[in-house]
Amino acid sequence: MKDQSIKVLANMEMSKPFIGTRYSEAIYKNSTHIMGFCFDGTTSFRPGARFGPDALRDASFGLETYSPYQDLDIEEFSIIDCGNLPIYPSKWKLTNDYFHGMTQDLDLKKDNIKFLVLGGEHSISYGPIRLALDNYDDLCLIHLDAHADFRDGYLEEKFSHASIMRRVYDHFTEKNTLIQYGIRSGTKEEFEFMKEKDTLAKSLEAFIERVEAINSTRPIYLTLDLDFFDPAFMPGTGTPEAGGENFHSFIKLIKVLKEKNLVGADIVELAPMIDATGNSSAFASKVAREVLLALQK
Ligand code: MN
Ligand code: MN
Repeated sequence: MKDQSIKVLANMEMSKPFIGTRYSEAIYKNSTHIMGFCFDGTTSFRPGARFGPDALRDASFGLETYSPYQDLDIEEFSIIDCGNLPIYPSKWKLTNDYFHGMTQDLDLKKDNIKFLVLGGEHSISYGPIRLALDNYDDLCLIHLDAHADFRDGYLEEKFSHASIMRRVYDHFTEKNTLIQYGIRSGTKEEFEFMKEKDTLAKSLEAFIERVEAINSTRPIYLTLDLDFFDPAFMPGTGTPEAGGENFHSFIKLIKVLKEKNLVGADIVELAPMIDATGNSSAFASKVAREVLLALQK
C-alpha cells in the first residue's frame, strides 16, 4: 500500500471492520477513516445509539462492497476502519476532547485525510464538524435530519443532541453555509431561526437545486441523522418522527453530493436494539456504504 501512515492512534476498540475496509489504528494520507463514537449520554427519549457503530459494521457483512447506484466498489479505495473511541458512553466532553486531541494536528486538506464518523447520538458530530471547519474555512455543511437541532441547549445540557446544529452554528463565519433538509420537527423558535437564516430546503427538488449551485471545488461536510428517514424504514432510532424520506430519495441526493467535493461525514442515531428485526441496522449500513463511496474521488 503506497499511502503512508502519519499518525498512530492509541486504545481504539473494535470487533471487525466495515465490509471492504482495512482495520488499522492509524491515520493515513489519501485515505478515508471510519471512526465510531459509542456515546449516547444526552439522549432525551430512547437510548441505545452507543451500540450504533458496531451494529453498522456487523450489518455491513450482509452487503456487497460494490454499489450499483454509484458504480463504485469500497475495495477500490483506501478506506481504513480505525475502530471506536475508547470513551465511556456518557462522557460528552471526554469523547469530543479525545477526538480533538487525536486530530488537531492533522492537515486534512494537504494530506487528503477524510473521516466518516459513526454515532452515537447527534451531539458527537460537534468534534468532527469543528475539525472540518478548522481545516476548511469555506466549508458548506449539509444537515439531514427530522429535527432542527437548533435549541440553545436541552435538559440543562448545552451540547445536547437537540442543540448540535446550534453549537456548530456558533462557529460559522460569513464564509460558511448551512443547508438543511428533512426537518419536520422543532420548536416555533427553531423554525423561525431556520427561516431567518434561510437554511432549510423544503423539498427534495429545492435541496438538490441548492446543492447543485455549490461550486464543485467547495468543501462539503454531511451530517446525517438517521431519523431523517421515515420510521417505517428506520424504527431503530432514539427519536423517530413520522413523515420522513425513503432510500430512493436519499440515493438521488447522494448522487448529487458525489459530484461535489465531499470532505467528511457522520452518520448518527442508529439505536440497533430498539429494532429487534435488525432491519434498521441493515438499512443504515447500506446508507453508510453509499456515503463512504460518495466521499471517494
Ligand atoms: Mn439530530
Ligand atoms: Mn433527529
